[in-house]
Amino acid sequence: MTTIGANPRNLIRGATGDWEVVIGMEVHAQVTSKAKLFSGASTEFGGAPNAHVALLDAAMPGMLPVVNLECVRQAVRTGLGLKARINLRSVFDRKNYFYPDLPLGYQISQYKQPIVGEGEVLVDVDGGDSVRIGIERLHLEHDAGKSLHDRHPAFSCVDLNRSGVALMEIVTKPDLRSAEQAKAFLAKLRSILRYLGTCDGDMEKGSLRADVNVSVRRPGGPLGTRCEIKNMNSIRFIGQAIDYEARRQIDLLEEGGRVEQETRLFDPLRGETRSMRTKEEAHDYRYFPDPDLLPLELDQAFVDALKAELPELPDEKKARFMREYGLSAYDASVLVAERATADYFEAVARGRDAKSAANWVINELFGRLNREGKDITSSPVDAAQLGAVIDLIAEGTISGKIAKDLFDILWSEGGDPRALVAARGMTQMTDAAAIEALVDAVIADNPDKVADVAGNPKAIGWFVGQVMKASGGKASPQAVNAMLKSKLGL
Ligand code: ADP
Ligand code: MG
Repeated sequence: MTTIGANPRNLIRGATGDWEVVIGMEVHAQVTSKAKLFSGASTEFGGAPNAHVALLDAAMPGMLPVVNLECVRQAVRTGLGLKARINLRSVFDRKNYFYPDLPLGYQISQYKQPIVGEGEVLVDVDGGDSVRIGIERLHLEHDAGKSLHDRHPAFSCVDLNRSGVALMEIVTKPDLRSAEQAKAFLAKLRSILRYLGTCDGDMEKGSLRADVNVSVRRPGGPLGTRCEIKNMNSIRFIGQAIDYEARRQIDLLEEGGRVEQETRLFDPLRGETRSMRTKEEAHDYRYFPDPDLLPLELDQAFVDALKAELPELPDEKKARFMREYGLSAYDASVLVAERATADYFEAVARGRDAKSAANWVINELFGRLNREGKDITSSPVDAAQLGAVIDLIAEGTISGKIAKDLFDILWSEGGDPRALVAARGMTQMTDAAAIEALVDAVIADNPDKVADVAGNPKAIGWFVGQVMKASGGKASPQAVNAMLKSKLGL
């Protein structure tokens, strides 16, 4: 499953030969919790500036941090979801730097002894393969405030609502080998976090952002010097930034230059990365253990209890969907990406043909939801309604084609599917004599096509189409097909 050596599909062609891109990510995920990491202030999004600030968050002298057990629980649950080692002893450190939105003058983070150690995430990539992406660590830290430069003509303002909000920094090993893999990794990580309920994954609100480290090398060669692209909050832009950055580094190396280790920013308007600061300008954070906080010590029973209560996660659900419902790996992974979608599917599939339930959910429902920018929780057609549509097809009351019309009606008007079919005369034509009349008429009207079909049996499809049309889509295609075959002597 793990790729040994470079996968030729991931190689990038340069003027002097092939290159391989190597990517590692540092993901900041805001912990879902009502209160901040070390104070009782609210984490609610969108409050008036400085409405959710405890004295500690504003660094008033003499305030002491008290770790929020709920945030610790969330970090451990996330670690378990990443199949990672949980460190029963971890240490909070001060990461010192000056910034106007950081009143403490340091960030409380974890450095040498994080709460979570090595783990992994399984990522499905195009072509059905999956790759194992190593997780290096997960640590807890708190967020800084926000400088606002657009509130006053002469001054910058500081909003401390975010100051102190708990973040999990999740660091991968340099295991990613393409922009596609990096995008798929982040989507998968987001899905796991959302299943766990440890981070809402809302990238637009900044709940999930990533620093993306990119280097290039000759396939299988030693790692190259990396650049770090900071603060990405869109999966699509991450893909663009990696592709741009890999190409920039390749061009530089092929012209005989050197990649400087530096921090870069992605400009989505130009689709380019540009230098923000070089290694020489990098901070020395002078980390040291925070004397205001004891080492965090957990007992195994605490971890085990959290483990016992973890929900079924996407990989396990996918495996179960394949086993229990006979779905393909692709269908199963599409359905499990969001918990709400998986639940919807199961409500439709229960007691019905799972394959047709999957088809309806993936093709009709998702297609419609995507086009209208809705998500499954606000779907106008609920699982019970869709289930009834599938029942009506299965029992032969309506044809597949009419079912699509019925779905449209349910979507825009709502209602009870069975009652709608009865009230609007959508019932499938099952009367053999009626179908036969239509078949005879089409045959009689098209002697040339009849002559043709003897040498070309596939042409029967045209006849089926004509009869279906004549029936207003109500005839059963199977019945029409059978009758045509016998009449045409095929
Ligand atoms: P630092 O603490 O200086 O940022 P780390 O060793 O923690 O450095 O690495 C940070 C991130 O950079 C990790 O996600 C890691 O996988 C990634 N990384 C390290 N070396 C490389 C490299 N040569 N190319 C791409 N990514 C790398
Ligand atoms: Mg780092």
